[in-house]
Amino acid sequence: MNKQDRKIKKVVIAGGGTAGWMAAAAFSKLIGKHLEVVLIESDDIPTVGVGEATIPTLHIFHQLLGINEQEFMAATNATFKLGIAFENWRDVKQDYLHSFGFLGQGCWAAGFQHFWLKGKQRGIASELGDYVPEHLGARQGRFAVQQGQELNHAYHLDAGLYAKYLRNLAAKYGGKRLEGKISKVNLDDESGFIDSLTLASGEVVDGDLFIDCTGFRGLLIEEALHTGYDDWSHLLPCDSAIAVQTKTVSAPIPYTRAIARDAGWQWRIPLQNRTGNGLVFCSKYLSDDEATQILLNNIDGERLNEPRVIKFKTGQRRKYWNKNCIAMGLSSGFIEPLESTGIHLFQRAIVRLLQMFPSQGINKSDVEEYNAQTKEEAENIKDFIILHYHLTERADTPFWRYCKNMDVPDSLKHRMKLFKESGQVFKKDEELFGETSWIQVMMGQGLMPEQYHPIVDMMEDDELKRFLDTISGAVKKRVQSWPDHNDFIKRYCPSTVSTLGK
Ligand code: FAD
Repeated sequence: MNKQDRKIKKVVIAGGGTAGWMAAAAFSKLIGKHLEVVLIESDDIPTVGVGEATIPTLHIFHQLLGINEQEFMAATNATFKLGIAFENWRDVKQDYLHSFGFLGQGCWAAGFQHFWLKGKQRGIASELGDYVPEHLGARQGRFAVQQGQELNHAYHLDAGLYAKYLRNLAAKYGGKRLEGKISKVNLDDESGFIDSLTLASGEVVDGDLFIDCTGFRGLLIEEALHTGYDDWSHLLPCDSAIAVQTKTVSAPIPYTRAIARDAGWQWRIPLQNRTGNGLVFCSKYLSDDEATQILLNNIDGERLNEPRVIKFKTGQRRKYWNKNCIAMGLSSGFIEPLESTGIHLFQRAIVRLLQMFPSQGINKSDVEEYNAQTKEEAENIKDFIILHYHLTERADTPFWRYCKNMDVPDSLKHRMKLFKESGQVFKKDEELFGETSWIQVMMGQGLMPEQYHPIVDMMEDDELKRFLDTISGAVKKRVQSWPDHNDFIKRYCPSTVSTLGK
């Protein structure tokens, strides 16, 4: 039988990082009854070991897998995340916060930003973030889980512990783990499909569908199938990162810090027992040694491991699904860790594949649809990330001058122009980042609309003031009822693991 027509009875996942174990847990639990799921990983090849900030969509994945939040957070040393503080991005010493959640309350004709803009002009509106509970909660370091008043929150987590947690879950639902280094990918002579993987031990693992989660190198999708890569480094020029962990010296805050530096930016991700630190940078402007020094000069607390350099190329695989191989995780491409979208994209890839699962054999139409949807999703996120770099007033270093002057995609130019000229932002259904996100980042980076929607003038000033005050008052009251973030964690999900460093 031709390989394309073969029923899919066995899925082989190559690689046991975050992507591999997310896929293994999902396939085993959700469709594992009639499917053999095998994951191969090698203790000799370390995982990338970063990827510790998430976005709220992870809840959807956890719900599918029946994951209990308290148990998962305790097992991964997790803290809550309500957004990202962008420091020095608009210009040096100018900060803003991109929080999760929704901004105020709009009307059928115009979003809340129009009401806020007029309020600001009249001097009767306070800071934009005062109208978003998650924003104020982040700034005040407060958090709560309240029945019927769910917050849009995400997590900071330990990537190694998360993979371990998912590995146990996969095992519970029958997923098998094979330890071994894949030394050869065996292709079918006729179809070019993957037949099997040979391990260094000589063992041959065959399968019907192969998920490539081998990280940047893309052992199956690229090294064996030569799928090709769309390079985005002219738009997202950072190509290196240095990561190091430190002991916690202060109570964890409920947001990630992204601090712009001369040729990139630094992350600080607070876990319950340690802080993840890293510097993402462009090697054209900074050597590894210089970058390491900058990072080490800007961390607090005792170092728990040696700084590690990670090299990458921003972009995406030309096909995410090629023949009987689907790339997930870093093997499928990498946008940038700035808005913590990596894990989200892995999860979307897993769910999309489950929705289109080719049990009866692989159809060309399924493959094309999968690739088109995945590509569109990644490209929308790409625009949002470029926005942070491009929309800056910084001209103090060659890196920032490059970002400010680079030619960005027409889709992004249109978004910025639309917002500037009329204050409008529209989210297409399939897009990840909604209006509130675009507004917070565009305004945070200094782009202010030249006008607000005329419907706002239907309100007299005193009515507008009452409207704005009612919203900010309700947000303030709500946030004041939340405990301190760290106190809440200690009660809700205290860590059950004591591992420090890796
Ligand atoms: P890896 O962790 O590299 O795992 C690869 C696996 O393949 C390993 O198990 C390895 O043993 C195995 N393997 C490789 N070759 C072989 C072989 N020959 N035989 C057997 N096994 C093999 N995402 C987010 O959502 N939030 C973030 O904050 C975030 N930050 C990031 C920061 C940086 C600097 C980078 C580079 C990425 C970040 N990401 C982030 C993206 C992503 O979530 C993480 O990088 C994630 O941990 C990557 O997982 P992975 O499973 O694709 O790859």
